[in-house]
Amino acid sequence: MEKSKIGKRFQGKVAIVTASTQGIGFGIAERLGLEGASVVISSRRQKNVDEAVEKLKARGIEVLGVVCHVSNAQQRKDLVDRTVQKYGKIDVLVSNAAVNPSVETILQTQESALDKLWEVNVKAAILLLQDAAPHFQKGSSVVFISSITAYQPPSSLAMYGVTKTALLGLTKALAAELAPDTRVNCVAPGFVPTHFAEFLVKNDAIREENEGKTLLKRLGTTDDMAAATAFLASDDASYITGETLVVAGGMPSKL
Ligand code: NAP
Repeated sequence: MEKSKIGKRFQGKVAIVTASTQGIGFGIAERLGLEGASVVISSRRQKNVDEAVEKLKARGIEVLGVVCHVSNAQQRKDLVDRTVQKYGKIDVLVSNAAVNPSVETILQTQESALDKLWEVNVKAAILLLQDAAPHFQKGSSVVFISSITAYQPPSSLAMYGVTKTALLGLTKALAAELAPDTRVNCVAPGFVPTHFAEFLVKNDAIREENEGKTLLKRLGTTDDMAAATAFLASDDASYITGETLVVAGGMPSKL
């Protein structure tokens, strides 16, 4: 994202983004940081955290990097504690981590894979929020990153899609629970060719097929997802809570 094109909606704010050393999470952290937030980035590997911190610092962003595998209770606690030690509060929490350990049909999926899907994609998001919520400010905001697959889980991503459907419900339930001081919203990205979604662009034919599934005839970018997340997290969305914004180039999105 070009620096000159964006505002400063997060000046003085503190934002945690999980799974943010590359891909969509990194894009979100960068956007919030360029708009003035102090951003706390995290992922499982120290090397990835260090490299991402350097990239963000090079763009003039105030950033803290913390190793956090979202299903590790101690690392979740560290993430929150170190944020509060350094910046004193939390204004924005973006819950972005997810895995897809299986391409089996739901009935063929091993119990260990079912557990992992629930653990990382849903349960860890709730547990991190439990740790973070006591530090939220009035006007704070949570954004879950779901997926277009939440609406119609494709066969190769079936149970993953179902965990993403759960986030739509979680958004509604937590919006009620955290109102009126904290808003809770969700972004459902379409196809974004990241490391996680390399299969989207495996070859030109597959890329074109995926582009053709959108009305806008292109894949999404991490900047597209970051812009939508920043909107929902910002005061521009101060009368929006419990909603999911689908950012998928017009792909069908009805439950
Ligand atoms: P990505 O480019 O592969 O990036 C994944 C990031 O997550 C990395 O920074 C990775 O760093 C970190 N990570 C992985 N497992 C983690 C864990 N257990 N705890 C903490 N960090 C972890 O993936 P992405 O495509 O940006 O996906 C981000 C989110 O967008 C996910 O929730 C995904 O479901 C959603 N989404 C993506 C698409 C798409 O088309 N790309 C579409 C819809 C939704 P380390 O390896 O260092 O941990």
